[in-house]
Amino acid sequence: MTLNVKYNNKSNKSSIYVPELARINKIQQISPTEKLFDIVFEDDKNQNNFNFEPGQFVELTVFGLGEAPFSICSNPENKDFFQLCIRDIGNVSGALHRMKEGSKIGIRGPYGNGYFPYEKMRNHNIILIAGGLGLAPLMSLVKYILHHREDYKEVMIIYGAVNPENILFKDDIQYFSSRNDISICVTVDNPDAEWTGEVGVCTKLIPRVDFPVEDTCAVVCGPPVMYKFVIIELEKKNYSSEKVFLSLERRMECGVGKCNHCHIGDKLVCVDGPVFSLWQIKNLKEAI
Ligand SMILES: Cc1cc2nc3c(=O)[nH]c(=O)nc-3n(C[C@H](O)[C@H](O)[C@H](O)COP(=O)(O)OP(=O)(O)OC[C@H]3O[C@@H](n4cnc5c(N)ncnc54)[C@H](O)[C@@H]3O)c2cc1C
Repeated sequence: MTLNVKYNNKSNKSSIYVPELARINKIQQISPTEKLFDIVFEDDKNQNNFNFEPGQFVELTVFGLGEAPFSICSNPENKDFFQLCIRDIGNVSGALHRMKEGSKIGIRGPYGNGYFPYEKMRNHNIILIAGGLGLAPLMSLVKYILHHREDYKEVMIIYGAVNPENILFKDDIQYFSSRNDISICVTVDNPDAEWTGEVGVCTKLIPRVDFPVEDTCAVVCGPPVMYKFVIIELEKKNYSSEKVFLSLERRMECGVGKCNHCHIGDKLVCVDGPVFSLWQIKNLKEAI
């Protein structure tokens, strides 16, 4: 398909809403509903200048259709390309799933001033709790931590998926399992005949973690219903709300704090988040 797009590719852009032209370099189907996209900017200068923090997101444009925010799930240290894990759920995501390698898209960002505070987490044990697609934003942090492994104490991932075929990042999970400096426990709601792992929701694994709470940080990302129950378990263990970090998702339009679509009380998920400490949001009624 030839795209006839009037595209402003100058660096002195007249509008913050004008995306940079990028290309889908590689597509991998990693579950029945999710694909992993490797993305590079068409202009090398944009690629070289693209630096992001774990937990940040981009606004991705499918030309002629619309745009949507997606969390970056690759290692921030990888400067050759970045990755997005996208569920086929609607207009923009569905169009992306129908695209082929080499297709052109637009990218704005990276956005989000609240990212996973990996500096504060140094010299702490880290427990990462993910449900479903929530593993995607956490992957960027996990890869960062593994790249700087000596800066962190024990690292554990607890990951819950609906059923075995929905488990995302299976190759990475296998790799993590082969290392002796990170532990990972995957649980599924609905096991199949071959499944030999844990069964049930991920919250039931939290009581088994025995890291000393005073030097442990917890990071949570998953479907909205999960947060409440995870927080109950973490609070039972007396985790400090300043050491629990959550990535929140809301309907988002502009991504840059102009449209107010993603507000939660006085916070905007796009510019104040998407990662917040529990301490920042625990008194905001609609947050969790
Ligand atoms: C900060 C942030 C990070 C995100 N990261 C990812 C990611 O890494 N991977 C990924 O696949 N998606 C991610 N999303 C969600 C993504 O932005 C889109 O919302 C999603 O892809 C649907 O967009 P669409 O245009 O395809 O669907 P639409 O056509 O807009 O909607 C299809 C259906 O899904 C419902 N829907 C759409 N968005 C949401 C939502 N956010 N919550 C509840 N229901 C919704 C609609 O009501 C409709 O029923 C993220 C969102 C935010 C705010």
